[in-house]
Amino acid sequence: MTSNLPLFGGIEGGGTKFVCAVGSGPDDIRAETRFPTTNPAETMGRAISFFQEQAADFGPISALGLACFGPLDPDPASSTFGYILPTPKPGWTNADIVSPLRAALNVPVGFDTDVNGAALSEARWGAAQGCDPVLYITIGTGIGGGLLVNGHLSHGLQHPEMGHIRLPHDLIADPFPGACPFHADCFEGLAAGPAVEKRWGQKAETLPVDHPAWDLEAHYIALAVANFIFTVSPQRIVLGGGVTQQEHMLPMIHQKVQKLLNGYVSSPLVGKRIAEYIVPPALGGRAGVLGAIALAERVFRHA
Ligand code: ADP
Ligand code: ZN
Repeated sequence: MTSNLPLFGGIEGGGTKFVCAVGSGPDDIRAETRFPTTNPAETMGRAISFFQEQAADFGPISALGLACFGPLDPDPASSTFGYILPTPKPGWTNADIVSPLRAALNVPVGFDTDVNGAALSEARWGAAQGCDPVLYITIGTGIGGGLLVNGHLSHGLQHPEMGHIRLPHDLIADPFPGACPFHADCFEGLAAGPAVEKRWGQKAETLPVDHPAWDLEAHYIALAVANFIFTVSPQRIVLGGGVTQQEHMLPMIHQKVQKLLNGYVSSPLVGKRIAEYIVPPALGGRAGVLGAIALAERVFRHA
């Protein structure tokens, strides 16, 4: 059936847990495991053991993808390619996480941010098929954006950090000072899950749908989305992450984005068809690990 397809390994590296899978796409995941993120040596060791064990059942993988929390160095030409860059996460600053995988498994390794991985998997198999540019935004413990442009995942000095853009912050309407340790009231500082929790004194998932928190949250998300529409002109925007599980916010976001654009962008996709334009992820909770598999597929094709 699918046994003649090249087989890939994918690692979704999260701040709290790692998910590893062997497969070739959403309809062909042969094995999967998850374990808590501890220190780099132990965590990467567990990932390596998983792929070594699976090779006994399914044969060797052709390539591996690692879609990881950042900041990280995704530039293959850089001397610190495959490293986690300075991070508040204890033990991970300057950890080289790609070399041990390559050494132990002897395959090419595709390495990128979790959100670039998710943008790629939604473009490859999910809600953004046939679109380019594709913007994937996650609103969870943090906020991040992944961007596929002209077929490439966006990198530069480092990689985009779209969660840290500045938004207008009306201190009278919203006196909350913001929760980002670097910038206080950046997008993440105002609108990530922990900011919602701090502002209202309870976890975001426990706030009722008619709570004023959601109108404010939709306001900040719409401001950011409007800025991204003006800067990169995406053909589709996928909104993922725990906070966006509040699906009642989506129509509010659509309406607010339209109001902010104020007719300046003339595509029907920001008019009557906006519900096809700003969408939830089709791959849901699997976008991360499938993003890693998509990174593996990509490095295999280009190797
Ligand atoms: P992570 O970003 O750590 O990968 P999530 O995307 O699940 O994980 O984000 C976790 C954050 O999202 C927490 O701040 C949590 O309060 C919030 N959250 C999780 N589920 C919901 C929900 N159903 N509604 C609103 N907020 C949620
Ligand atoms: Zn910030």
